[in-house]
Amino acid sequence: MAHERIYLFDTTLRDGAQTNGVDFTLADKLAIAAMLDELGIDYVEGGYPGANPTDSELFGADRGLNATFTAFGMTRRPGRSVSNDPGLAALLNAKADAVCFVAKSWDYHVKVALETTDEENLSSIRDSVRAAKAKGREVLLDCEHFFDGYKANPKYALACAKAAYEEGARWVVLCDTNGGTLPDEVEKVVSEVVKAIPGDHVGIHAHNDTDQAVANSFAAVRAGARQIQGTLNGLGERCGNANLVSIIPTLKLKPEFAERFEIGVSDAALKKLAHVSHALDERLNRAPNRHAPYVGESAFATKAGIHASAILKDPATYEHVAPETIGNRRKVLVSEQAGKSNVLAELERVGIKADKDDPRIGRLLEIVKERETLGYAYEAADASFELLARRTLGKVPNYFDVTQFDVNVEQRNNAKGERVTVTMAVVKVKVGEDNMISAAEGNGPVNALDLALRKDLGKYQKYIAGLKLTDYRVRILNAGTEAVTRVLIESEDENGDRWTTIGVSPNIIDASFQALRDSIIFKLVKSGAPA
Ligand SMILES: [Zn+2]
Repeated sequence: MAHERIYLFDTTLRDGAQTNGVDFTLADKLAIAAMLDELGIDYVEGGYPGANPTDSELFGADRGLNATFTAFGMTRRPGRSVSNDPGLAALLNAKADAVCFVAKSWDYHVKVALETTDEENLSSIRDSVRAAKAKGREVLLDCEHFFDGYKANPKYALACAKAAYEEGARWVVLCDTNGGTLPDEVEKVVSEVVKAIPGDHVGIHAHNDTDQAVANSFAAVRAGARQIQGTLNGLGERCGNANLVSIIPTLKLKPEFAERFEIGVSDAALKKLAHVSHALDERLNRAPNRHAPYVGESAFATKAGIHASAILKDPATYEHVAPETIGNRRKVLVSEQAGKSNVLAELERVGIKADKDDPRIGRLLEIVKERETLGYAYEAADASFELLARRTLGKVPNYFDVTQFDVNVEQRNNAKGERVTVTMAVVKVKVGEDNMISAAEGNGPVNALDLALRKDLGKYQKYIAGLKLTDYRVRILNAGTEAVTRVLIESEDENGDRWTTIGVSPNIIDASFQALRDSIIFKLVKSGAPA
């Protein structure tokens, strides 16, 4: 039997950006879009073109994605024509593959919030869909407050949805905007809707206010909807949106769905899911939820004892799916054997061949454990882990020594009498028998240190010419009894390869220095620089 297709629509960059404390830069948005694309998400909603400079820039250029990159915005304002609505014009001119309009579908909101008539709202939907279709865009309509609207006035809610569908919208998306609808209600309402609009044109957009956004999404699918909207890690305002990181593996791994449906996420891409989830948290500078279903660090962790020995005999006894399928790992806590296999798996991931009986593996495990209690997080810093592993296995040349560094931050008045802060760093480096001193000014201590460190590495300079720092994240941790600073630095080279290094210290400059030094050494190793 042929599998029916379910389409996944990600709104992390639009609805997810409504989360308290989340503020995506253009670079964040591009990186997250690329991650979603690699995962095999069908639609990536980027934001509101015209609403802010970041989104305008995002929609100003082609991003080179396979996913249908979608712009979000309102239908034409009541009482205006399509040609006389600047918001709509910005939306239609955005470089996007698809346009997702949002419109009221609850007559109460039409009257109170829009202050217009039911008929004018329907015309606005029709006109907007028609205008976007004429621009060659695929069109979606988000029906705001659809479920509450349907309960209050089913005829009108359905009329809004039908207006868009009949005008040629590819998808009509039923939104549980307040997030209070329960799965049985969702199932009932969606089954009614699919009598008027074919299910393969109906989507679900659920919010998590009763902790059932994922369940509501599946209820809609059971009733016939074939597009699911959600966000990575369930990001979103209030209690969040439906969590695609839970939805994707459920669709792929649970027979109820896997035997009937297929999605754009391949088995190989599914193996990256845990990494994608953690990478988003790192970018947001948040600690990943250890207890997140499927991808959390504890999702497949079992305390040593009777369960652990059963798991070692047959993992299926205590696991609902195999952790490797989503890129997670089985963890049997406080077990030397399991710890070792974690390290071996990690080595394999970064491409270092190792013999499981090599005594140095046990030593590496000890070092990793010790450093993790100090605050190092090697899962977030592949490059530092790789260096640590190579050093322990005896494979990293001693390219250079930083014999001394000095960072000076000075605040004073400049010649114009303005208050300025000036930062300068001096670094003494020994490369072989050569001693070098470099100094650089920067816009802050880390920037100055980075510039000075990379200014002159003698015979190694040519290997690091294309190296640049692309991201810098700081988190204060409580490791043991004192607060320490953890710095993660993301670097990029001339080939576009990216890696992350880590430093931990009570002193932020020292932590930054460790991460910067690791990044340079990693680049030298990667480039095959001679010892
Ligand atoms: Zn929403």
